[in-house]
Amino acid sequence: MIFKSQFPTLEIPTTDFASFCFVEARREYSRKLNQKDFAICDGPSGKQLSLFDIERLSNSFASGLVNNFNFKDKDVVAVFSPNSIYYPIVVFGTLMCGGICSLANPTYTARELAHQLKDSNVKALATQSHLLNVAKEAIKISGLNIPDSRIILLDLEASPPAPITHISSFFSDKYYKRFKIYTPEECKERVAILFYSSGTTGLSKGVMLTHRNLISAILQNTIFNYNDGFFDKTQFLNRILAILPHYHSYGFVLSLMVGFCTATGVVTVPSFTIESFLSTIQKYRITFAHVVPPIIISILNYPKLPDYDLSSCRFFMTGAAPLGKDVLAKFKKTLPNAYMLTSYGMTEASPAVSLGFKSHPHDGSSGVLLSSMEAKVIDEDGNLLGYNQIGELCVRGPNIMKGYLNNEEATKNSIDSDGFMHTGDIAYVGKNENYYIVDRKKELIKYKGFQVPPAELESLLYLHDDVADSAVIGIYLEDKATEVPKAFITLSSRNKDLTKYQMDLKVRQIQEWVDSQVAPYKKLRGGIEVLEIIPKTASGKILRRDLRNMTNIKKKLE
Ligand code: AMP
Repeated sequence: MIFKSQFPTLEIPTTDFASFCFVEARREYSRKLNQKDFAICDGPSGKQLSLFDIERLSNSFASGLVNNFNFKDKDVVAVFSPNSIYYPIVVFGTLMCGGICSLANPTYTARELAHQLKDSNVKALATQSHLLNVAKEAIKISGLNIPDSRIILLDLEASPPAPITHISSFFSDKYYKRFKIYTPEECKERVAILFYSSGTTGLSKGVMLTHRNLISAILQNTIFNYNDGFFDKTQFLNRILAILPHYHSYGFVLSLMVGFCTATGVVTVPSFTIESFLSTIQKYRITFAHVVPPIIISILNYPKLPDYDLSSCRFFMTGAAPLGKDVLAKFKKTLPNAYMLTSYGMTEASPAVSLGFKSHPHDGSSGVLLSSMEAKVIDEDGNLLGYNQIGELCVRGPNIMKGYLNNEEATKNSIDSDGFMHTGDIAYVGKNENYYIVDRKKELIKYKGFQVPPAELESLLYLHDDVADSAVIGIYLEDKATEVPKAFITLSSRNKDLTKYQMDLKVRQIQEWVDSQVAPYKKLRGGIEVLEIIPKTASGKILRRDLRNMTNIKKKLE
């Protein structure tokens, strides 16, 4: 059967994402009497921007792009930066002059960033001083023509080396014709943001989210939330914590943009530490915080937790990875006055698919389907399944991506002819309309909510002279509520007669080499195991399930 959302269908305005956000935010600020309150604030320094500042600066940024960079329609700006109060200005400004933003992970190595810059054909880059060397190296590797004069720094305070521009001196007040979408077709087709995800298989790909995708996502995640009191309109001092990375759709859409559009003062924190998380909640009286399961584990295990006053934070929302029932029970016991909302989603869905509201059971479900969405659960042969039957979850709706950039084949393999996106997740729908995610069919590994595409680590391993073949899988660590990547390799013929000592040394060297090539979250924390042969099907497909079973049996025997 086809499952439908129980909520009323959305009316999606035909406008561009920046105009939509400003209309929403202005309306919400005018409803709240406290209009002088900040729209966004840097947690550590307290530096603030009002709604008025953001709109004015975004306009001048757009003008700067057009007048200083000769920016053209559909040109791309990459943002390679930790969370920052200037992030929305770069994004809104780029969209206002018809451009596209490609959001990159600030922990990337130059090699990883170069792949994204090249793939999205970037014309200008926004970054921070401490990332400048990596950014410049990546530009060199990519072969793109991005002169220093087209790099903009987003440091809170900085005097950048000429000709690199700091965002504060980049703004231009010269007139430019602000871009606007007027037709429903253009709204549907025009790409606004590129997030990078490996999807169900292969390397990282540009997920094309259109203006309409993003507008739908904001509406899906706000209008019904109000009914449940997440962002209480009668309270002036609602505060949302934006500690999850802005370059990921979860942090960008659900924390930063939902916070902005609902006039819920957004407090950004550049990167997560348990101290920065807890002290920001206490200092700013945060009322709503997005988290991932490993953050919940860190909170629960933190010995100094009782030293912090977290009483303001009534809502936490978890997503990006499964949350165990035991962890949830412990959370409820530790913070009895806070409510944990469970959600499920993926980058390709902008990102939320389902959300558990206050009234929903805490039985391992990830909530109900969001507005205007449909879902089907299918078996191996593509047959439709019914309630309580386990299969692959496929979803359709206005928030589902347009496709993967420059990759029609991957798009076709992901979105079927009926418009359903195949999530690669194994799930069932309960009779109570709740969605239960039980397993993952796709290759993806998630370390603390961050994507680690096995194909990427495997292709790196192939480059190593001592490795003949490899396969990478995720191993779930219960106590840390996360998977870690583990590699299986066969050694090349020149390593035939190694002693045990030499073999251990070799494995350590290979692991150190791989770890030096990738962002910290992709490191082979699960180690490397040497096999005689990597199990594969007759057509050469890695039998990952066999490797997983093998590891589980070993774990049990230990
Ligand atoms: P990303 O595109 O990085 O957001 O990763 C999306 C993937 O994360 C999904 O396809 C799932 O495999 C996993 N995921 C997200 N939310 C949940 C959840 N609530 N429970 C289990 N897995 C999840």
